[in-house]
Amino acid sequence: MSSSHDLFERRKNAVSRGVGVFVETTAAQASGATIIDVDGKKFIDFGGGIGVVNAGHCPPRVVEAIKIQAEKMLHACFHVSTYEPYVKLCEKLIEILPHGKKTKVMLTNTGAESVENAIKIARQATKRPAVICFSEAFHGRSLMGMSLTSKVNYKLNCGPFAPEVYRLDFPNFYHGGDGLSEVEYSDKEINKLEKFVITNVDAGSVAAIILELVQGEGGFNIVPVPYLKSLRKFCDTHGIMLIFDEVQSGFCRTGKWGAYEHYGVMPDISVWAKSMGSGMPIGAVIGKQEVMDAAEPGTLGGTYLGNPVCCAAALATIAVMEEENLNSRALVVGKTVMDRFKKMSEWADCIGDVRGLGAMIAMEFVTDRKTKLPNTEVCETLVKACLEKGLILLKAGSSKHIIRILSPLVISDAELAKALDIIELSLKEIIGVKKI
Ligand code: PMP
Repeated sequence: MSSSHDLFERRKNAVSRGVGVFVETTAAQASGATIIDVDGKKFIDFGGGIGVVNAGHCPPRVVEAIKIQAEKMLHACFHVSTYEPYVKLCEKLIEILPHGKKTKVMLTNTGAESVENAIKIARQATKRPAVICFSEAFHGRSLMGMSLTSKVNYKLNCGPFAPEVYRLDFPNFYHGGDGLSEVEYSDKEINKLEKFVITNVDAGSVAAIILELVQGEGGFNIVPVPYLKSLRKFCDTHGIMLIFDEVQSGFCRTGKWGAYEHYGVMPDISVWAKSMGSGMPIGAVIGKQEVMDAAEPGTLGGTYLGNPVCCAAALATIAVMEEENLNSRALVVGKTVMDRFKKMSEWADCIGDVRGLGAMIAMEFVTDRKTKLPNTEVCETLVKACLEKGLILLKAGSSKHIIRILSPLVISDAELAKALDIIELSLKEIIGVKKI
């Protein structure tokens, strides 16, 4: 029996069933875009620990910064003793992600905590209770995060959920476009919102609208540009805080620090985590100063938020991203993946759509290109076949019928080509195509 098999057996005995297994792999070591399992088998990592290692696994500069900070001070609690790494990280975030004239930041441990705090801040800023979110959204596993999250399987029997959460259909152009132009489609969807605030919730009691510009767990569905511009106007008209969840799309993933920079639309508040700390638990809420300062002293915080070691890791991660110009690299990685996926869709009818922004690329599997019904089976089989050949792939979408690429951006051209060859070969085996 392999050590991986033993480890899974021990996991079964010791770890709650509720902690899901998304990919049947183990990991003993990782660097760059490679993971080595406990049997010594090498894998190319196209999942990046769910979008956390844009700067690669164990970037030497980040590891060094962690070591240096760990020897100086592991913890002080920012509420008790102000320390520089926290302030320095906030200053850096303001520099790379300004939100209007004056920006302020609070640090968190996770994406879910960033979401929780963004809602707390929006409620204090507006003195209103309601929040509008979207279908297919994922915002974390805390009570508010889970309430804002769409997919039922993530929250079976976990209710009651947080009150005053209202859900609107996500403007999914691939599924809803129906021959309309993006502008026409966006107008149609914004009209739904105008009706929504008559039939579902009064606009005057809405504190915030929260959305992912490229839905992560939802399958890389991209908000159309005209829709977002109209949403900004809608929020301005009604005094609603517009919150962008950039937890998965942030930190070079789309070829920019944040996906919103592609849109020319500024949020009031944005939430971040994942690739910000290369795996160390750190996140941030960034917002316009007047919004962030609407929070009363003492209403935001926590024992570990902005831990000094995590701050050092985040500062070093951002430095690596700047030095290695990972925003540009993301565009190259994204184009390479997109071109290959588009080619595959020429001979594989089960590919309904190939889409993406920067290096956030997805391929959606359908049973039929007309009905666009999800093809979970092909997706599942493909992920398994790729794993056997040494490639870790992640599924997405409410029917687990979409593969999404979240590879480290430091992946070499050779590794990238090899991984794409594995996908292509596996897909051919599954659908029985003899030659391209
Ligand atoms: N928002 C988005 C868009 C996410 O993708 C995730 C995690 N997949 C979260 C929030 C929650 O982040 P965390 O797991 O760090 O709490």
